[in-house]
Parts: sequence; structure tokens; C-alpha cells
Amino acid sequence: MPELPEVETTVRLIRPALVGRTIQGEEVRWARTLGGMRRAAFRKAVVGARISAVRRRAKHILLDLERDGVDAGALAVHLRMTGRLYVDPSREPLDPYVRVALALDRGRTLSFLDVRKFGRFVYTPDPEGFLAHLGPEPLGTEFTAQVLWESLRARRRMIKPLLLDQTFLAGLGNIYVDESLHRVRVHPQRRAETLTRAQVTALHAAIQEVLLAAIERQGSSFDKFYRTPEGQPGSYQHEFRVYGKAGQPCPVCGAPIRRFVVGQRGTHACLRCQRPPRAR
Ligand SMILES: [Zn+2]
Repeated sequence: MPELPEVETTVRLIRPALVGRTIQGEEVRWARTLGGMRRAAFRKAVVGARISAVRRRAKHILLDLERDGVDAGALAVHLRMTGRLYVDPSREPLDPYVRVALALDRGRTLSFLDVRKFGRFVYTPDPEGFLAHLGPEPLGTEFTAQVLWESLRARRRMIKPLLLDQTFLAGLGNIYVDESLHRVRVHPQRRAETLTRAQVTALHAAIQEVLLAAIERQGSSFDKFYRTPEGQPGSYQHEFRVYGKAGQPCPVCGAPIRRFVVGQRGTHACLRCQRPPRAR
């Protein structure tokens, strides 16, 4: 499932082809992808608008729109499980799964492909309001070790579900949380408020290091779904230390990586490096 590095990779690769383009038409093949908006209203909102910027916020891809130089809302795309966004025809074997396509000037086409149909391609007149519930960006300047320390102590929850909570910190998902917690030797079920100051400082650094390294590798592709807009897999999956590695040796200590469920999410950890919290 695409997380911050995969979404960031998508944004960086589609941006040059999209900024300045005008939307000339739409083809909606799966209405639910529009998130409840009627197709006629969607058409009215987007056709004729110019794409002024392409940016990422958390796991959302934002295409800011304008008309006659005035802000005109945004398209907010969420890839969810299997979504993929690309410009122009690809020789993509999954093309029958395109759910929404926009015809642009200069003969270009923006396609949203989504095999499992959980993804969303929605118009919002108020992008900042649409995104207002989200927590800080983990690579943003407002996210410091001090902010993480204070916010972890304010929440009496298990660390992994908290890091997955997009209102707490925006952009992380299952893979990058498991990888970050292993690096700092913190068990996913530890209570957030029990982490030491040193552990929080290390966790802050690990989250940023893992995300930056994954962006550098254009994200992680461990199944056929995530591909860059150019149709290429990412390569960060080759750097995984625990995710998807149940039964394989921990690269730090050699103990077998375990898979278990935390907050309904499959979780990978080394129980020698990441000591389970004592029962209370
Ligand atoms: Zn270990």
C-alpha cells in the first residue's frame, strides 16, 4: 500500500507533465472513485480548469486548480491499496483498470488506475479544509524531536497504532512504521508515554532516515501494484530489515523476525532487539 515515499515519488514524476496544463475533458469509468460527487458536478468543477501546482500532503496527491488565475479548488487523489497515477498512455497491462482519465491540452492524458477500487480521485473546492484533520508532515520543519516527545507523552496509546494515525503524524503506513521501530529497538506495542527521551530522539531520526532513503529508491514494490508513473517498481523493498521477513534472521542479531497483529495490522519485529513490554 503506497505510503509517503511512494506518493512523493508519484508527485515528483508527474509534476513536470501536469503543471500549466488545462483539463479539457473527463472520462469516469467507476463513479465511486469520485467519492460521492455526481459526475456532472465533477465535470463542471474540473473541465476548463488549469492545473497550477502538483503537491503532496500526507498520502494525498493534490492537483491545485485555477480559472483565470483565481484558485478553483483541487483534485485530491488517494492511491489507497492499488492506485496508480500516470500521464499519457503506458504499455501498462493493467490499463483496463483505469477508473478516471482526464484529457489535457497538448494531447496529454492523466490516468488513475486502481485494480481494487479503494482509491479516490475527488474534487474539493477547499483543499486546506479537506486536509485540515492531518497531523504534521514527518519530513516537515514543524516535526522536531521535541514535538514528537511532547505529543507522544500526551497520548496514552500503543506506539504503532499511534504512528499510523494520520491525525497524529501524516504519511506513515505499515511498512515504514515497522522499519522505523526496528531501527530504534522499540516494540510496536510499547505504550507511547513509556519511551525514553533518547528513544524518542532516535525514533524521530529513524522515521526521517527511512522515509528519505525510500524516496531515494522511488518507494517500495513488493507486489505488482505499486509502480512509479513511469511504470517502474521502486527498490526500497530490498532494504527492508523486518517488513515481510517473518522467519528470516534479524539483520542486527540473527533472531528470527516475527509476524503478529497489532491493532488489526500485520506487524513485523525482532523480539530480541525489540523487547515486548511487560504485562500490566
Ligand atoms: Zn534482532
